[in-house]
This record gives sequence, structure tokens and C-alpha cells, in this order.
Amino acid sequence: MDRLINLLIFYLGAIVGSFLNVCIYRLPREESIVFPSSHCPHCNTPIKPYDNLPVFSYLILRGRCRACGGKISARYIVVEILTGLSFLFLSIFFAQSFPMFIISLVFVCSLIVVIFIDIEHQIIPDEISLGGTGFGIVASLAYPMLHGTSAWRSSLIYSLGGIAIGAGLFWLIRIVGGKAFKKEAMGLGDVKLMAYIGSVVGPSLTLLTTFFAAFLGSAVGLTLIALKKAQISSRLPFGPFICIGAILAFLWGAQCIAWYLHFCH
Ligand SMILES: [Zn+2]
Repeated sequence: MDRLINLLIFYLGAIVGSFLNVCIYRLPREESIVFPSSHCPHCNTPIKPYDNLPVFSYLILRGRCRACGGKISARYIVVEILTGLSFLFLSIFFAQSFPMFIISLVFVCSLIVVIFIDIEHQIIPDEISLGGTGFGIVASLAYPMLHGTSAWRSSLIYSLGGIAIGAGLFWLIRIVGGKAFKKEAMGLGDVKLMAYIGSVVGPSLTLLTTFFAAFLGSAVGLTLIALKKAQISSRLPFGPFICIGAILAFLWGAQCIAWYLHFCH
């Protein structure tokens, strides 16, 4: 029985993942995410409902359009499976708290969209960063335990504090870095993304997110340089590292901080 429920949760996630794919394709192109229905990017043929089944259709059609045989990006099935696994993992991680499960789903799904759009287009849509900041404030008011408190006033202060620290810190890096390197050190999109993350995780986990993102970014950057896939002057989109850092901080940040304080006393 449990297995069947897990399978259903995974597939529900994969269905949401196919919607995230629509967002990843259309948000940077400023197209509506509702109309028209999905069509092949090569021949524009509308995709039939039976060819639009998450995961299965991609496998059955071997990643090609039924009408023209054009190749469909592997990103589609990757996002569907990743979202399905996220649903399953979060349902287990937050089994004790339904509100946290719902908030974590919105948070992780929106960051999956940011990761794939930023890698492909080097932009972060305002729909997600600014819309997400609104979501973070509302979620903090509706469910103060998001910030480990029972009072909505304190929760709101944590949320606004997270926005101020996240956006403020990255704004500062943008200004100082821009002057020091005479080019854009940090995009405005990253500043707004940090406002969103701050509104959900609060001030201390926002700082931890920054630390994780800087660590991951440097590790990947240095590895790419060592493998001669990049140069010191290459630009690596920073958004994906912020997103991964934010998810790690959201899930395990409180334990990390408690562990750190325990050993530094
Ligand atoms: Zn086609």
C-alpha cells in the first residue's frame, strides 16, 4: 500500500514537472504559461494528450516528435523525474507537517525552474523572484512555524529580515564587485532571487545559503578550470548554486547551525 502511495506521489510530481517544463520554456520567452497547449518546438504540431504523459511519452517516443521526428531535449524527462523524486522525498521529510510539505513543494519547484532557466538563458524571471517573495511573506504570516515561532508578528519580522539580508548582501556584492572588476559581478536577478529565498528561510539561513552557494560555485568553477572547460574570466550563472544552497539550508540548515554552535563553545 505504502509503495502504491509513494508511486502516486512520484507521478503527481512528474505531472507537476511537465508543467515546470512549460514554465522553463515559456517564461524567458515571455509567452503565456497557460495558452496555447504544448506544441513541438520544431514543426509546431500540437502535442496530443496521449503523447503528453510525463516520463512515459518521452521514453516511448525515444525523445522525438511523433509528427516530424525532431529531437526533444532530454531536459524534459530530467525535470519530470527530478520533480517526481522531489515530491517523494519532501513527502517523507515533512511527513509530520502538511503545511511545511506544501511550502517546501512550492519552494523547491520554483527553484527547479530557476536552475534550468538560468543555465540556458542567464536570466531569472521576476515572476518567480518577485512573485516568490510575495509567497514567502504570505507563507510566513499563514504558518509562523516556518520560522520556528508561533507568533505571526515574529514570523513576519524573520521573513522581512531575510529579504533585507539576502537582497542587501547581494546588492552590496553587485556594487562593490562591479567597481572592483569593472564589469557586472552579480546580476540584478540574483539580488531579487535572494530576496525570495530570504523571505522563506529567514536571516540566518539566508547567510548559510550564501555560504553554501559560494562554496559550491567555487568548487564547480575551479573544477571546470582544471578540466579546461572554462577560464578564470568565464561567466558561470550563479543562480543554480544559490538555488541548491537554499534547498540545502532550508532542509538541514538549522541542524548545521546547531552543530556548529555546539562545537564552537
Ligand atoms: Zn515536430
